[in-house]
Amino acid sequence: MKKATTSKKRISAKEIKKFKEQLVHLKEELLNLVQKTTENEKEYPSSEVGDSVDQAADSSARELLFELNHGERQRLEAIESALKKIEQGRFGMCEKCGNIITKKRLKVVPYARLCIKCKAKMEKPA
Ligand SMILES: [Zn+2]
Repeated sequence: MKKATTSKKRISAKEIKKFKEQLVHLKEELLNLVQKTTENEKEYPSSEVGDSVDQAADSSARELLFELNHGERQRLEAIESALKKIEQGRFGMCEKCGNIITKKRLKVVPYARLCIKCKAKMEKPA
């Protein structure tokens, strides 16, 4: 049995699985947070609970996203993007330059979309 790769930078399937679990967990946490906010709002007594209930439930999924503040929404998008990348076998690659995002960075931010270099460029526009 020989190892498929000698590259230390490559993320193993096992590690990807761990990252995926982390991402799914983070996503759930974010969504729970939003759901809690919406549930609190429901506690307001309303005299007009009638036929509109079904409609409200239907639109609530979309409205969930509006409940998130900008940072949370970005985070959710990044998490979903990372999950998609896992499916496509591109997890850990910078979305801009295609370079490998270091494992060290992914451990802190598993949903990182950009490598450190691109991120630094984004934060400091020329
Ligand atoms: Zn990059």
